[in-house]
Amino acid sequence: MTGAEDPIDPQLAFTVAAVWREARISCPHPDLLQSFAQGGLSGGAAEFVAFHLQDSRCPWCNAVLEDLRARDDAARAPVLADLRDRLLRSTAAALRRTRA
Ligand SMILES: [Zn+2]
Repeated sequence: MTGAEDPIDPQLAFTVAAVWREARISCPHPDLLQSFAQGGLSGGAAEFVAFHLQDSRCPWCNAVLEDLRARDDAARAPVLADLRDRLLRSTAAALRRTRA
């Protein structure tokens, strides 16, 4: 008796996954990926995108997501720099006060 516990040939499963990825059959639209990156998806759509990225490990969509996150970081950078400047100024002012 063999095969009862493992009905799917691992080699076949691997091939199906590879074809699936290469054909980009299930790739969500970049707009969906952007919504997902910003936490704007819920329910089935969020589950679908999460499955696609994490379980299917789609290299294209993961690359798109990385790109979107990098752009988000770039957009936030000036805000952080401004915050850092203000913190430095208030710290310097506080130090001057304690010395005076
Ligand atoms: Zn994809």
